[in-house]
Amino acid sequence: MDLKRKFLILLSCAFLFISIGLKSIPAFAKADYTVNYEYININDMATANKITKTEDNTSILDNLLNLSPNNTIKLTTTEAPQAVELPLLENTPLAMELADQNRQIWYLPTEVGTISQYPSYYHAAYDITSSRGSNELIFPVANGVISSIYTDNAGALIVTVLHEVNGQKYTSLYAHLSRYADGLYVGKPVTVNDYLGYMGTTGYSTGVHLHLVVVDCAMFDPNDPYCSDLNGFFRYTKQRINDGYYGLGTMMEVPSQWWGR
Ligand SMILES: [Zn+2]
Repeated sequence: MDLKRKFLILLSCAFLFISIGLKSIPAFAKADYTVNYEYININDMATANKITKTEDNTSILDNLLNLSPNNTIKLTTTEAPQAVELPLLENTPLAMELADQNRQIWYLPTEVGTISQYPSYYHAAYDITSSRGSNELIFPVANGVISSIYTDNAGALIVTVLHEVNGQKYTSLYAHLSRYADGLYVGKPVTVNDYLGYMGTTGYSTGVHLHLVVVDCAMFDPNDPYCSDLNGFFRYTKQRINDGYYGLGTMMEVPSQWWGR
């Protein structure tokens, strides 16, 4: 065997080794994962964006609204979604029943609160303070499903909840949290009795308060024509405020001060 031939064989062996080697490195190995919706855990937007679209192009958020223990989803991604085996809250159906019995769907997000800033054309949210400061728990304004958990560019801890009321989808957004409740994950069903975290002043904020946005669209749902991404969400929210839509204030009477939900 001449030297040239030996070299060529050696070279092709090297290629083979490299390609097999790369595939065993997770970042280069695209694979299909079948996961249970209930156990998808997305703690950062990069991962959320990677797995928001399924293979058949339906959105996870669409499917989340029809939660059942056997719902599974096929994802093609370079990394396996993190699975956390957290059982659904025992009291979920009861809490939902109670909410229906009272015929009350929308609730205030805190037990103690004072409105420090109202929605306006330059601030599309309620700002809420509490005498209990960062001990004040933040609750969803209606039953729903966690649709995102992220930190914005300024460092604000944010969580959003997707609601569906009479066929209309709504998103509520809670910003500046000092910390999240334990065991939060995207896809987790939450009731108005399950707290999301604690009031805080993370991000672009000058004091401990909750910045609460409620708007009639489905944030991060790729099929939503207005709110599929952050820019769209903010543009749409601003437009709705200009139309005279006041978020939570459109759904229920929001007092200027309260000591109970
Ligand atoms: Zn605000």
